[in-house]
Amino acid sequence: MKQLNTQILIIGAGPSGMVAAGYLQKQGVECLVVEKSSFPRFSIGESLLPKSMENFKEAGLLEAIKAEGFQKKFGARFIKEDKLGEFDFSEKFGKGWDWTWQVPRADFDLVLANEIQRKGVKIYFNAEVKNVNFEEKQSLTEVVINSEEKIEIQAEFIIDASGNGRVLAEQLNLNASPKISGNSSIFTHIKETNRPKGKEGELITFEVLDTKTWFWYIPFSNGNSSLGFVSENEWFEGFSENNSVAFKEMLKNLKYYNNRFNSYPFLFEPVKLPNISRNVTKIYGKGFALTGNSAEFLDPIFSSGVAFATESGLRAAKLTKLEVEGKKVDWEKDYAEYMQAGISVFSSYVKEWYTGNLQKLFFHENPRTDIREQICAVLAGYVWDKNNPFVKNHQRIIGNIARMIDREEINI
Ligand SMILES: Cc1cc2nc3c(=O)[nH]c(=O)nc-3n(C[C@H](O)[C@H](O)[C@H](O)COP(=O)(O)OP(=O)(O)OC[C@H]3O[C@@H](n4cnc5c(N)ncnc54)[C@H](O)[C@@H]3O)c2cc1C
Repeated sequence: MKQLNTQILIIGAGPSGMVAAGYLQKQGVECLVVEKSSFPRFSIGESLLPKSMENFKEAGLLEAIKAEGFQKKFGARFIKEDKLGEFDFSEKFGKGWDWTWQVPRADFDLVLANEIQRKGVKIYFNAEVKNVNFEEKQSLTEVVINSEEKIEIQAEFIIDASGNGRVLAEQLNLNASPKISGNSSIFTHIKETNRPKGKEGELITFEVLDTKTWFWYIPFSNGNSSLGFVSENEWFEGFSENNSVAFKEMLKNLKYYNNRFNSYPFLFEPVKLPNISRNVTKIYGKGFALTGNSAEFLDPIFSSGVAFATESGLRAAKLTKLEVEGKKVDWEKDYAEYMQAGISVFSSYVKEWYTGNLQKLFFHENPRTDIREQICAVLAGYVWDKNNPFVKNHQRIIGNIARMIDREEINI
């Protein structure tokens, strides 16, 4: 059996793995990537957050992405019946990027993988990790290439960026109850041949059907648009078992987008994912770190998945470099606690979205400028900025303000 050696083995060539690979390559640390699929391959997670731009830049990937002409995203719009909540990232509290992209992930992930290979990192495609044997910090990973050839990879450290493949979470029994539970999603793409010009054909928009149910519209620069619904698992039981039929039935419930998408054929049979949230008991251990979705996924409502995937990929790569250099690394403080600080902010926002409290703030008729700017910074992914009261006090502030709105004590 062929055996390879590397300092760092990265499992998965999604955004998390590619940012990790980009950083390590820049730092001259040896790494190789194994990826189960062949690229391009479909993936969901198409609306990015400005915070992730910092990570792409640090990993040396930003210029390659810029060259592709993806649809720029300057903010996001939320609509519920006649109410509107619109956020412009240039008006956010604090410093940081005020734009990013909306991307068809098949194309986007291919750009990242091509750039990583151009820089000299080897990616094995159609290479599925089957098993990992740890001996102290060293590991021997069994990989099957093209469903037939078995190889073994010896590594000093593994970055598991396998997304929903959840390689180490499954193998080491690390799965835990998710922080947000019981939501499903269904989504597809259309070619929008009659797309309106300007904002209506460019801006990501969320149409809220009820407190628990919402729809996304994400237009791409290639003329295709992503459409999807998220709700509690039970909501989906009210529709046909045939995904195409069900999706058409769901589209009829839209008020703002009344009939706009009904006549377009789906570019692929709508995909339904049940119970979309994920969690683990720990995100690092002897000789490995979990990054991106292989560690945790909350909910799509604030498009935070790729931002966390790249943040954790970059952070883990930085710590891994120190580790293989023989330096002492405090994984608990510098990785687990750091990541949880950001995730817990979004987790509060997602929970308060589904209680309806956050929706009261979003759809308030006379929003107070400072509050909107501070929320906007969170929506841009700046969830580690403790100068922002909506970060620092994330557990209480949304509920408190919602109650003040209810009692008409505050005009936000
Ligand atoms: C309905 C829905 C909507 C979403 N919308 C958004 C959004 O708008 N914005 C956003 O930022 N996020 C969104 N997300 C989240 C987003 O999809 C993920 O957070 C993001 O793709 C995670 O990136 P990743 O690099 O961790 O994993 P992935 O991008 O999933 O990459 C993991 C890679 O690992 C490979 N792999 C898996 N198993 C193995 C194995 N055994 N061996 C080798 N390779 C393997 C896979 O083939 C894959 O290419 C959404 C999620 C859902 C469910």
